[in-house]
Amino acid sequence: MTEEKKLQGPDWKGVQRVMVMMAHPDDPDFSCAGTAIQMARHGIEVTYMILTNGDKGNHNPLITRNQLILMRQEEQRAAAELCGVKDVLFMDEEDGFLRPTFELRKRVCREIRRIRPQLIICPNPERYLVGEGYINHPDHRNAGVVALEAIFPAADNPMFYPDMANEGYHPHKISQLYVSGHDDATVEVDVSADIETKISAILAHKSQFEKPKEVEKWLRERWGDKQPDGSMRYYERFKGMRFDRWGDEEGEESEESEQKG
Ligand SMILES: [Zn+2]
Repeated sequence: MTEEKKLQGPDWKGVQRVMVMMAHPDDPDFSCAGTAIQMARHGIEVTYMILTNGDKGNHNPLITRNQLILMRQEEQRAAAELCGVKDVLFMDEEDGFLRPTFELRKRVCREIRRIRPQLIICPNPERYLVGEGYINHPDHRNAGVVALEAIFPAADNPMFYPDMANEGYHPHKISQLYVSGHDDATVEVDVSADIETKISAILAHKSQFEKPKEVEKWLRERWGDKQPDGSMRYYERFKGMRFDRWGDEEGEESEESEQKG
């Protein structure tokens, strides 16, 4: 262990499927759209899981709750398509009231066992405050808790939800976890080449922005790291964790091929 932790580039060797678990439509696009774009380009199948239906995300009295839910699903699908994301799952919890219930843990666990991702991206469950001007939305924290509690101890333990085997969904262990919004980031993805697509994906959430031009300007400044030569670079950073360093990588692999055969 070195004293000083350095940011490292991503290692997606052996990663074929990725799940991004977030609270609201548009959260994946802010947190990790650039990373999703690169993964898709590498042939990795990315699935977004949106835990809430986003039904609080507009103040227009002329739009009904159900209209807003459908609108936001459409927006998220359009954004995902821009990024090459394979699928979007909507878990339909109520916006603003996301809780890590046992019922939700089971539903999320079922999706992990069905999709069998090697890598999951989720928000930081410990993040209450962001900078000096933003209290983190509780749904963002709780989305992190929901993801972590489904990954461990549930998804890879056959004693949890043994009935899922009858549905064909067997225990599954992921090999990597990326936690976004973490002060102790260890993985850095340079998304500069895809920043235009990332911005388009964010702006695809039309119901969220009254002044898209201003948002775009804010994004370019907010997300840009000015280089010594004056140029801008854009990064997405995560706290990365690995669970494949104890020699069980092959076991997982044979388990997979067994189930596919
Ligand atoms: Zn959000």
